[in-house]
Amino acid sequence: MAPTTPTPVALITGASSGIGLAAALALIEKGWAVYGGARRVDRMQQITDAGGTAIELDVTDDSSMTAAVERIVAERGRIDVLVNNAGYGSYGSLEDVPIDEARRQFEVNVFGLARLTQLVLPIMRELGRGRIVNISSIGARIYEPLGSWYHSTKFAVEGLSDSLRLELAPHGIDVVIVQPGPIRTEWNTISRESLLERSGQGAYAEQASRMHANYTRVDEGPMSASPEEVAQTIVHAVTTGRPRTRYAVPFSAKAIVGLRRLLPDRMMDAILSRLA
Ligand code: NAP
Repeated sequence: MAPTTPTPVALITGASSGIGLAAALALIEKGWAVYGGARRVDRMQQITDAGGTAIELDVTDDSSMTAAVERIVAERGRIDVLVNNAGYGSYGSLEDVPIDEARRQFEVNVFGLARLTQLVLPIMRELGRGRIVNISSIGARIYEPLGSWYHSTKFAVEGLSDSLRLELAPHGIDVVIVQPGPIRTEWNTISRESLLERSGQGAYAEQASRMHANYTRVDEGPMSASPEEVAQTIVHAVTTGRPRTRYAVPFSAKAIVGLRRLLPDRMMDAILSRLA
């Protein structure tokens, strides 16, 4: 979407770290009024220093989301773009992950995204335009052992986004999906820790330990990219006149998505089961 007058306004969730922080800084550099939201406001000083606004936002807390949106409308009178980026990876075998944790995974990665979108939509509909960029994952195209809950949330984000794109088109609002591959952020530490915490012992311990070792190699290897690279794709998805419906980034993610299209399930299973 081309910048308009007055200054276009973006709300980016999960802006205290990794992809969200990098996207906030990149969009500020493009001249946008950026509101970065996260629970750790102290981790968003860079956004404030660059001329953006850091707001406390917990996507599992309705009043926190309502207050954030009300503040932006009071200060700017508009929200042109919502980047739903907040999320984390909850790993461990399905048998080992407590259902309450599975619900929390959905609360952050899916229901938080959906509720914030509900709050922003009336503002975009009134403007007659807007763009919602949902940060999914290549994990919505492939799957991993001991990752059933995380993958479920990202598959859900994609189904939700595709339906929403059709639903919102008559209102001039577009929905774009970004599918990062392996990116060097705190996400890796959080997901690896959850994997070992839940399945590091017991029936799935060997798989968990192999997977942990393999992922450490991926994190450090050439397949993984910086959050800044994903941020450039997000900036493109936000600012281009006619975005694609989904963007896989970096190159390794594009290759994996392409492979998934070509290979039958059993062949994919053979490849992906080597992870663990
Ligand atoms: P990250 O560095 O761990 O950042 C995650 C962000 O989400 C943090 O700013 C965190 O902020 C926020 N967050 C978590 N829970 C929240 C909550 N309840 N309310 C509000 N904010 C919350 O990870 P990242 O890699 O940048 O992840 C960003 C997105 O990319 C996620 O949706 C992730 O699933 C997706 N992704 C990442 C990778 C990867 O390899 N890194 C790959 C594919 C997809 P606070 O803790 O301060 O609230």
